[in-house]
Amino acid sequence: MLQEFGIKKELEDLEKKVENEIEPIFKQIEENCTKNSLKVLQAFQKNEIAEMHFGSTTGYGYGDIGRDTIEKVFSEVLKAEDSLVRGQFISGTHALTVTLFALLRPNDTLLSITGKPYDTLDEVIGIRENASSLKSYGIHFEQIDLVENEFDYSKIEQRLKQGKVKVIEIQRSKGYSVRKSITMEQLQKVISFIKNINKEVIIMIDNCYCEFVTEKEPLEVGADIIVGSLIKNLGGGLAPNGAYVAGKKELIQLVAERLTAPGEGKEVGPTLGINKYILQGLFMAPSVVASSLKTAVFASKMLEELGYKVEPKFDAPRADIVQTICFEDKEKLIKYCQGIQMGSPIDSNSIPMPWDMPGYSDQVIMAAGAFTQGSSIELSCDGPIRPPYIAFMQGGLTYEYGKLGVLKAIQNII
Ligand SMILES: *Cc1c(COP(=O)(O)O)cnc(C)c1O
Repeated sequence: MLQEFGIKKELEDLEKKVENEIEPIFKQIEENCTKNSLKVLQAFQKNEIAEMHFGSTTGYGYGDIGRDTIEKVFSEVLKAEDSLVRGQFISGTHALTVTLFALLRPNDTLLSITGKPYDTLDEVIGIRENASSLKSYGIHFEQIDLVENEFDYSKIEQRLKQGKVKVIEIQRSKGYSVRKSITMEQLQKVISFIKNINKEVIIMIDNCYCEFVTEKEPLEVGADIIVGSLIKNLGGGLAPNGAYVAGKKELIQLVAERLTAPGEGKEVGPTLGINKYILQGLFMAPSVVASSLKTAVFASKMLEELGYKVEPKFDAPRADIVQTICFEDKEKLIKYCQGIQMGSPIDSNSIPMPWDMPGYSDQVIMAAGAFTQGSSIELSCDGPIRPPYIAFMQGGLTYEYGKLGVLKAIQNII
């Protein structure tokens, strides 16, 4: 059957063998999916979600009961005192930016303890010059690198004892780096370590790609504020845009007043018809994240069988939905991404090429034949064009579509 799709017999045989071997991992993913689905269902029921919450506002968006209730549901699911879930956030980068500008003041220090933050934050922080960066407001940035995928506890302790750190940023997912993603156990340990030294410092988590991958979310292990994109995990492939910020009530208030205006905060923000999609997306999210994880596990095992270096290995614990494949060859990276595009439902006949994407310092190739522009909870694959030529693949609205996309991409490199 797959031969009509351009998949050769040998690859189909390998697929069968691999699917047998990954069966027990799929069982674990399904168990986790049930737990997260229950969490979402209970949050809907507790907040008495009804058709009226699908309604819409325009203009200032005063009295949008759907929006306000969505924020209660997200708070419940993420175990937050309060949250902001808004289409006015363009993306995860924007939500991170608004959060950083909301929490930091001139002369404050932002400290990243997971090394250099995600590429699109370079100009936000001022690592790369930009006249509107945090740096341009006199906000300092320091970073402590991970050491062999672990936090550098002695450096963190030393730095905190010198004082004057306002916000600590922890990015769980690896971004475009070669490190591993941060597990919930690692996170829990480092947060209690930090709080033992300094209770005042605000711990902010970039939670992109990590929601619903395991049973707990970062606020449950002591983080103060978390940020993520709705065109990733929690949007379930249905939210048309937006992002969320969740955590301590007084911090969410600061972020709201920076997103809208001081004095207006959470009270304004028209929803323009997206409430139903946000609710339905969150409802689907546990299952969509499970499909993405299965797609990643399948790709990991297939490519390992074919001799490539993969991270994580198919049976390793996962902290996010990202699968990396190290090609050590520019052409193979490009071909793989192009194959993912060829296996997509949208724009399958266009051929992605490396380009100078805004916010990134190297050329990047991005494959995403997605219903929502740039959505990476839909099967997508990208990679900066720099050695060792790593593909970062993630998403898959269903496992079956994810698998077909991966097979197409593998056939394209063969
Ligand atoms: C995707 C991502 C971002 C940025 O989110 P966008 O929605 O693409 O702007 C930030 N941090 C991490 C770790 C990400 O994976």
